[in-house]
Formats: sequence, C-alpha cells, structure tokens
Amino acid sequence: MDWGKQKDILVFIEQKDGHPINAGLECLTPARTLAKASGGKVLALLIGTDNAESEKRVSGFGADVLLSVEGEQYADGGSDAFSYALEQVAEKYKPAAVLAAVTPLGRELTARLSAKKVMGSVQDAVNLHLQEDGTPVWTIPLYSGTILNDIVLDTVPFAATTRSGAFSKPEESETKTSVTKECISVPDEAIRKKVLESVKEITEAVNLEDAKVIVAGGRGMGKKENFALLDQLAKILGGVVGATRPAVESEWISRAHQVGQSGKNVAPALYIGCGISGATQHVSGIMNSGYIVAINKDEDAPIFDIADLGIVGDAMQVLPVMIEEIQKRKA
Ligand SMILES: Cc1cc2nc3c(=O)[nH]c(=O)nc-3n(C[C@H](O)[C@H](O)[C@H](O)COP(=O)(O)OP(=O)(O)OC[C@H]3O[C@@H](n4cnc5c(N)ncnc54)[C@H](O)[C@@H]3O)c2cc1C
Repeated sequence: MDWGKQKDILVFIEQKDGHPINAGLECLTPARTLAKASGGKVLALLIGTDNAESEKRVSGFGADVLLSVEGEQYADGGSDAFSYALEQVAEKYKPAAVLAAVTPLGRELTARLSAKKVMGSVQDAVNLHLQEDGTPVWTIPLYSGTILNDIVLDTVPFAATTRSGAFSKPEESETKTSVTKECISVPDEAIRKKVLESVKEITEAVNLEDAKVIVAGGRGMGKKENFALLDQLAKILGGVVGATRPAVESEWISRAHQVGQSGKNVAPALYIGCGISGATQHVSGIMNSGYIVAINKDEDAPIFDIADLGIVGDAMQVLPVMIEEIQKRKA
C-alpha cells in the first residue's frame, strides 16, 4: 500500500479524572504496528484542562511525540471543543491515521473528523493485522459479536476506534517522551452545544480491565451465595470476580463485574470460568486472556473449545478443593 506523504499515526488518549484511560493507552499498540508499516512516528495526543499527571503517565509508553493541548474550554467534557482541537492538530501534523478508544467521545471525534475530511473509518476494532504490502486489515464484530468482519482500509488518511481490552498496552519503559505543548484557542462559534449537568452513576469500583486474575461465574453457579466461592478463590489469587450476563441479571453480582460483549473486554494472565457455557457474547470478551481454565459439568460445553485447561465437574465441588489446595501450597 502506498502511504504517500502522510505517515504519522495520531492517537487521541482520553482522560478520566486527570488520568489517561487504559483503552487509550492500548491504542498505542496498533498505532506502533501502523507506524512500522508507514515508516512514520506515533504521536500521542492529550486534550484537557490540566494534563500534567497524564503527561507523566503517557510519556513512558513509547510514543515518539507527546502532544498536549490544555485549556478551560475542555472543562465540561463537551465534544465540540475536543473536536475542534483534534481537527487543528490533524491539520498541522497531517497524520496518516487517527486512532482513539471506542468510548462515546472517541467514537464521536473520529466520526466527525472522518466526515469532515472524507476519511475512511472503522469503529470498534478488536484486531489489526497487516497484509504483505502493509495494508491494514481491521477486525470488527458484527451482529452482537456473532460474526467477525475483516475490513481493509487502503486509503490515507483514515480513522479507527479500538475496543477496550482488545489490544495490550505497550510495555512501560524508563525512556520518557518529551511533551510538546500545543496552544489551541477554540472560537465561540465552534461550540454548538454545552454540557449543563453531568450525573455520575454510582457504581461499585472493580477494575476488570487491569486484573491479572479473574475468577468468573455464570448461571451454573446456581445462586448468589455460591459466588462467595469465586470471591474466596479470587482473593487467594490476588484477582477479582467476573460474571456472565445471566448471573448479573439474576442479581447475584453487580453489573460492574460483567464480562463480554455488553460488559467489559478483559485480558488477565489467568481467567477461571465457572459454570459458564461459553456463548460467543461472553467469549468475545475473554479472548485476550493468557490462560483460560473452565469448570463445567457438561463435557460438551463450548467453553472447553477455547479453554487451555478444562475441568469437567460440579463447580461447587471443584472450587472448595482448588481453594484448599492453593491455600496449602501458599502456606
Ligand atoms: C446482544 C447480546 C449481548 C450479550 N452480552 C453478553 C455479555 O456481555 N456477557 C455475557 O456473559 N453474556 C452476554 N450475552 C448473553 C449470552 O448470549 C449468553 O446467554 C450468556 O453468556 C450465557 O451465560 P452463562 O454461561 O452464565 O449461562 P448458560 O449459557 O446457561 O450456561 C451455564 C453453564 O453452566 C453449566 N453448569 C450448570 N451447573 C453447573 C455446575 N454445578 N457446575 C459447573 N457447571 C455447571 C452448564 O453446563 C452450562 O454450560 C449477550 C447476549 C446478547 C443477545
């Protein structure tokens, strides 16, 4: 593929509470793949009121250039100011591609930029590979994740959003990228809507995305009380508890723990699935796990097709044995 003169890959890294979101840092991985193909640089972009903390954090993740746009205009999180700033940065640096995490803001910014600049665009990518000539092929889940579609984007520039957990963050290094401040003042006429009020949903804080170990339970756990076994095992292993949608809908555990297509995409080193059948909508969220253990009493359960280790048995009998054995070995 001919990348032409535009070779750099611009990554918009969204912030939450003054810190870069993980899904934004993960975008640096496909950005590096693209930059290798295009022969360009990876430019990370922060937009916010005070980027100091995020600059420190992002600088260790291997971007070649770290651009920082600060101003009070970004205080209410309204997308118009962000969209204007992104457009200005794209105009100045002329990237071959603009990447962002698939959040409401990431979707909107890339869609607006693509429409304005008539760029090719993909949303919600879960994988990227390059054809022999360096042409990017993005994998996009369709029809509730039932099928995975490969989309070839062979025009430059283009935009893409990536799904949280689909790519691993680059290794953090001691080498820091220096920060280039960009002064962009957003004209009043660029702001067409104002955020009047933001209501924060009170949710239990559970960091599934960064967990190294997840012990997840499904409908096969039978009742809420049995989730105590998952909790126990997760604690011993220094992990957190995940769940399938039916377990959440039965109110055995809060929605913050849901893994899968309409929950979180996770990438732990170890995933232990208990009483989970292995439906596509759940499995699509765990495919980046390092090692998958499945406990199911049905030896034909589809989860065994993707498990590295399968245990055919009643989870309520297997789990206490596992807990006891691990405790013994730890002691
Ligand atoms: C648009 C859409 C989005 C969705 N999003 C998600 C999502 O984000 N996450 C998600 O998880 N699902 C999601 N679903 C639902 C998904 O399709 C499945 O229905 C769900 O994942 C099945 O959950 P489960 O494995 O807990 O239950 P089941 O499919 O009922 O499986 C229960 C399993 O437990 C086993 N079992 C029973 N008793 C025991 C026992 N004592 N010991 C061991 N094993 C036992 C059974 O053999 C069975 O395999 C979505 C569906 C749709 C349509």
